[in-house]
Amino acid sequence: MSATAPPGPAGALAWDILRARVRAATAGLPAVPEPGPGVCACCHGPSGHGFARCFHCCLHEESAPGLLADVVAPVACAPKGSRLATDLWLYKSGRSGAGEAGETLLAMLLVFLREEGPRVWQRAGIPAPACACVVPSGRGRPGPHPLEALVRGRLALPWVPLLARPGADAWGRVLDPGRFCAPGSVTGQAVLLLDDTWTSGGTAQSAAVALKRAGARSVAVVVAGRHLPAITGCLARARAPRSARPAPLVNRLDR
Ligand SMILES: [Zn+2]
Repeated sequence: MSATAPPGPAGALAWDILRARVRAATAGLPAVPEPGPGVCACCHGPSGHGFARCFHCCLHEESAPGLLADVVAPVACAPKGSRLATDLWLYKSGRSGAGEAGETLLAMLLVFLREEGPRVWQRAGIPAPACACVVPSGRGRPGPHPLEALVRGRLALPWVPLLARPGADAWGRVLDPGRFCAPGSVTGQAVLLLDDTWTSGGTAQSAAVALKRAGARSVAVVVAGRHLPAITGCLARARAPRSARPAPLVNRLDR
C-alpha cells in the first residue's frame, strides 16, 4: 500500500514539499521512541519501570485479549501545549486556521504512510493493508469524520465503514468493546485504522475490537499524534508561528 502519489511530473516535487511541511510541523518535538525500557511496547508512550506496557495498554489487554490492534504506529509525539497538539483538535473545529491544520495533518499522514508504512505492515505481520477506515468520533458530527474527509481520496485503498453504536458513550476514553460496529465485511482483511490523536488509546482500541469482531485478520493503527504531557524546554520551536510554515499544499496536489 502506498499513499496516492500526486499525479503528473510535479509528483516528486510535491513529495519534497510535503516532507518540508512535515519537518516544519514536527520541529522541536521529541521523536517517537521505539518500544523498550520505559517505553510501552504497544503505544510508544511512557511505561512504568519494569513494565513492557503502559497502564492503559495493560488494561486494554485484560479487557479484550486477542482483539486489539496488531500494531500501533504514532506518526509524531504531540506534547500538551505544542503546535501539533493544537492542530490535532483545531483541524476539526471549524475555527480560523482549521484548514491549514488539516493540511499539516494530511502531509504528516501521507509522508508517514509512504515512507514508514512498509515497516508498520511488517510489524503487523501483513504485506500491506487491504482497506482503510478512521476511528469514528461518535459525537454526532454530521457528515464524514474530518480525518476521513482529509485522507480518504488520497489513499489507494478501498474504504470500509466503521460506526458508533447508538447510545454508546461518545466521550469515554476507556476501551468499550461494544462502542463501535463494522457493518461491512472485513473478513480476512488487513485493515489500516487511522486516528488523529492517541491519548489513552481506549477509543482506537475499541474500534480495533469492532474490526476484529467483524472478521478482520489484522488491524494496523496509524495515529497522527501520540499525546504526551507538556515537556518543559523542548517546545519553543514546536510553537513556531504559522507564518513560518510553508504555503498551503492541497490545491497544488489536486492538479
Ligand atoms: Zn501503551
